[in-house]
Order: sequence, then C-alpha cells, then structure tokens
Amino acid sequence: MKYDYLIVGAGLFGTVFAQQAALKGKKSLIIDKRSHIAGNIYTKESEGINVHVYGAHIFHTSDKKVWDYVNHFAEFNRYTNSPLARYKDELYNLPFNMNTFHGLWGVVTPDEARAKIAEQTAEARARIKDPEHPANLEEQALLLAGRDIYEKLVKGYTEKQWGKRAYELPAFIIKRLPFRFTYDNNYFNDKYQGIPIGGYTQMVENMLKGGIAASLIEVKTEVDFFADRQNLCAMADKLVYTGAVDEFFDRRLGALEWRSLRFETETLDIPDFQGNAVVNYNEYEVPYTRIIEHKHFEYGTQDKTIITREYPAAWKEGDEPYYPINDDKNNALYAKYKELADKEQGVIFGGRLGCYKYYDMHQVIAEALRVAFENL
Ligand SMILES: Cc1cc2nc3c(=O)[nH]c(=O)nc-3n(C[C@H](O)[C@H](O)[C@H](O)COP(=O)(O)OP(=O)(O)OC[C@H]3O[C@@H](n4cnc5c(N)ncnc54)[C@H](O)[C@@H]3O)c2cc1C
Repeated sequence: MKYDYLIVGAGLFGTVFAQQAALKGKKSLIIDKRSHIAGNIYTKESEGINVHVYGAHIFHTSDKKVWDYVNHFAEFNRYTNSPLARYKDELYNLPFNMNTFHGLWGVVTPDEARAKIAEQTAEARARIKDPEHPANLEEQALLLAGRDIYEKLVKGYTEKQWGKRAYELPAFIIKRLPFRFTYDNNYFNDKYQGIPIGGYTQMVENMLKGGIAASLIEVKTEVDFFADRQNLCAMADKLVYTGAVDEFFDRRLGALEWRSLRFETETLDIPDFQGNAVVNYNEYEVPYTRIIEHKHFEYGTQDKTIITREYPAAWKEGDEPYYPINDDKNNALYAKYKELADKEQGVIFGGRLGCYKYYDMHQVIAEALRVAFENL
C-alpha cells in the first residue's frame, strides 16, 4: 500500500504529525524500532500503577493551544511537581524557595533569606580569584548561591549528572539559579500542569486511534528504519524522520554526543516508600540522582508501590540517547548535519533526536503542530 507519509518514530512528534495529517485525509505509516508506541513518554501499567518507563514525565505548559490539544486526548489530574532534595538525612524543598531557606538557615521572612544569600555570596566573592570571570561551575555556583546551597543542593547532584567534578565543569552550565522568595514548592511556573489519567501511552493511543486517525494511521513496532531503508521509503511519498539526525547520514561527519541514563525499577510490598513522587539525592556518594515513586503521580492508593532509581550514565553508540550535550563542539557538528538535512528533498526532521535539542513535551507538540501546519 502507498502512504502519504512514512514516519520514523512513534514518539510524541511522530504521533502528533500523523494525527494532524489524518485530519487532512493523509495516510501515514509509523514505524518504531522499540516494541511499543509513545517513545520516551511510554508508561506501562503494573500493580495498577502507571510506571514512567523512561523517567518521570510531568506535563506542563503555558501554551493554551497545546494544553487544549492534549486535553482532547486525555483528562489530566491536578498533579503539581514539588520535588524534595535529600542531602544525607536532611530534606529540602525544591525549587529553591522560602521553605528551602527556612530549612537551611531557620530564616522566616524573604528579607532574612535575601540577607543570608547576600552574606554567603559576598563570602564567595571575597575568596574567588576573579569573581567577574568564574573559572568553573563550582565558582559560578558559589557566586550565585553561596556555600550552603552550593554544597548541599548543587554540587553532588550536578557532578553525578555530568560525570565530572564541579571544578572540572565549565561555568556556563549554570547561568543562573532561580530563587523564589515565597513559600511555593511548585517546580514549574507554567499555567497548566498535570499527568494524563490512565497514563501517557493511553493518551498517545487516543491520538493514533481517535476518529478519522483510526483508518488513516498504521503503526508497526520493532521495525528499524535502517534495517530496510530503501523499501520503507518506497512505501510513502514523504518521510518524517524523528530518529537521530547523525544516524540518518551514517554519522559521516562524526557522532553527536549525548548523556544517557540507567533506570532500576523495583516493586515493593509496602504502600508507600518516600511519600512523594520525586526525591533527588544530592550527595555525590549516593550513585543515583533521584528516586521516583510512580503511584504519587496519580495519588495511587494501591497496597504495593513501584520505585525507580535513576542513574546518570555516559553515552556510547548503541546506548539510549537521553540528553543532547549542547556545547560548542556538538552544536557546531549539529549545524553541519542541519545543512545536510535542509538539502534533503521530501524529508522532515523533527523531535528531540532529529533536531538534537532538549525539548519538553509541550515544546515537541508545539513544534509538530507548527511543522504539520506548514507542510500539510
Ligand atoms: C529522563 C527524562 C525526563 C523527562 N521529563 C520530562 C518532563 O517531566 N516533562 C516534559 O515535558 N518533558 C520531559 N522529558 C522530555 C520528553 O521525553 C520529550 O519531550 C519527548 O519524549 C520527545 O518526543 P520525541 O517524539 O521527540 O522523541 P522520542 O520520544 O524519543 O521518540 C522518538 C522515537 O523514534 C524511535 N526511533 C529512533 N530511531 C529509529 C529508527 N532508526 N527506526 C525506528 N524508530 C526509531 C525511537 O525508538 C523513539 O521511540 C523528559 C525526557 C527525559 C529523557
């Protein structure tokens, strides 16, 4: 059968594009090399709990159009992301706000908190050789936040994330540390936030199977584009490619670099492990960066609980690429691949892998809607 579009990748970008194409009467074949749809937002039900298989995913946006779009396919609960940070046996609220400052120093008013931060950053300025030009991430964070916040809440976590000590990391990684001088633990500043009731996979299924989409979108999993590239391309007039952009060009200019993650998931025979969906572990000595307790994303009351420890990992070819490393070297290499991509006739490159960009879900959706609008 001839399709209008072959879409490589059943993640959010590919799915939204296919859904929009269906509204225009266009037929799509979506392939994914994984055994499931939904890409990195895939959730899998276990013990009545929707497990976020590729890491915690909290939907947030201020874009009304995107919010209305997703609400068409799922009802969202009222989940508000308010993570905790654990440093040894101390617990602090995130993002940095009056609750955090109260926990650190016992201060009660915003003025007291500002004074304490000013005192600690002044100490750092006095000690650092060239405070106008911080030499590394450690100096930068000390200048922005002072010793206590740096040592307890920035240092170990960042070092684990990047696999390097803070004094070896470039200062630009942290441009600013947002402080909130209210007692507000809501991590995001966006207007809308929540988790789709029934899980993200169900939301994606509804996009693929709702209304006209059911007859115009076909999905095949466990199909790798590169295993049968020519035949697959021959099946459609145009290609939407959401895999890694360098792989599309056989990495002929070199490989783009990524950070990876490793997840360890465990079912526990207790109703509650940590009382919160997300707890960050800020000590360098604890090898994981956070523990997710999935049931708390949906106010679950099951007898059991499921937790996932998230370990940052170096990336090598064949590993799952999670975060692009958007430093000068990789951005320059991506720019060259982008030039090649722009010259490809009848191919749309999209999504986080296709654009070598860290996109949140709402950004991927906005991007897919824009691309669909311009191309369909
Ligand atoms: C740990 C983590 C936590 C996150 N948390 C949040 C959050 O809280 N909130 C938020 O808004 N966003 C979050 N995100 C971002 C979110 O995951 C992305 O915005 C979204 O999943 C991107 O969708 P996509 O379609 O671009 O990519 P993907 O979901 O990666 O889809 C691409 C698909 O293409 C397939 N593919 C690749 N190559 C081939 C090939 N050769 N052949 C066939 N198929 C192929 C892949 O298997 C994959 O399924 C998080 C990301 C990570 C890594």
